[in-house]
Amino acid sequence: MAAPTLTVDVPSEIVNEVVATRRDLHVHPELGFEEHRTSAMVAERLGALGFEVHTGIGQTGVVGVLRGPRGGKTIMLRADMDALPIDEENDVPYRSGTPVHMHACGHDGHVAILLGAARIVAARRDEIAGTVCFLFQPAEEGKGGAKAMVADGVLERFGIERAYGLHLASAHPVGQLGFREGVFYASSDSIEITIEGKGGHGASPHLSVDPVYVASQFVVAVQQVVSRQIDPIEPAVVTIGAINGGTTHNVIPSRVRLLGTVRAFDAGVRERMSERIERVLRGVCESSGATYDYEYLWRYPVTSNDVEQTRYVRALAERVAGAEHVADVPKLMGAEDFSFFAERVPACFFSLGSNGGPNSAFPHHHARFDIDESALATGVRMMTALALDAPSHAP
Ligand SMILES: [Zn+2]
Ligand SMILES: [Zn+2]
Repeated sequence: MAAPTLTVDVPSEIVNEVVATRRDLHVHPELGFEEHRTSAMVAERLGALGFEVHTGIGQTGVVGVLRGPRGGKTIMLRADMDALPIDEENDVPYRSGTPVHMHACGHDGHVAILLGAARIVAARRDEIAGTVCFLFQPAEEGKGGAKAMVADGVLERFGIERAYGLHLASAHPVGQLGFREGVFYASSDSIEITIEGKGGHGASPHLSVDPVYVASQFVVAVQQVVSRQIDPIEPAVVTIGAINGGTTHNVIPSRVRLLGTVRAFDAGVRERMSERIERVLRGVCESSGATYDYEYLWRYPVTSNDVEQTRYVRALAERVAGAEHVADVPKLMGAEDFSFFAERVPACFFSLGSNGGPNSAFPHHHARFDIDESALATGVRMMTALALDAPSHAP
């Protein structure tokens, strides 16, 4: 059967509004779970469009519900709203107005895109067979805003059956829609370790248990978990990012604290990493007479795209953006809390290239990160197409 025709026009008036919204959000960045101005603006805009608006889900999360006149599936379209604690170094008219707050991941663009789509879809609601939830989530950057919304029962409350989301990507050419079936983003967890020794004089190490020495051994030995204990065809990372202990040259401190991050692309590997890291820690500590406290903080699961949903969204992208703007993209060692939605309902998360030249080529989370705003119209087109088509045509 031929795909039904679907035209998605994004009038220049709406493109201009989306750019203005993105710039306004860029000037007013808010950190995770502090998105009060942003969520108030989202709720007000959705209300003005005639959506049923629900606020305070997962603290600052907002859901706008649009019901079509005919029955069908209930889908969600997700935008994350939070910024990062970075001092912006761009010299642009829409530079961040708050020190050490910056939209350096493109979430300002995600919110603007979804609001732009909401406006177009509101005017075309008669075409929807089903229900569309426009979901604006807090705190993607490390604090698990998606988890908070899921814990608040957002999926059950609105009967959400399918989930879609996009992320701007400075690694890809502007306007390119990138897809990956199956595993897309890694899991991301944290480890927090305290090694307890016995303090003493730096000249008498035999009367102490030196936690600096033990910590040094651990930092080296822990890499064997990846290189010797995990299947080499399964990627994994353990990085110790912070090591703190001691005060001066000639004193052996009594404890050292280490912080690290653990990444994997497979749930089984993720489990094994947590056990094996502790096993190395235990062995190193025992050999020196030190003790330890080990905390493995389970943060973001692997983000995995449902194969059928991904094929569907990719085909939709070819229809509305043209096959020349659609590509397969590699998986990423970064993490995404969209995974909390994708764990529970069939989902597709895809990338939207935002690199239009040197000014938009900086990596995400860089103080000079910026997007080529011509990507925004493509994002609006895709989110609009999903809202109109997915409730009745998604697998
Ligand atoms: Zn980010
Ligand atoms: Zn992000």
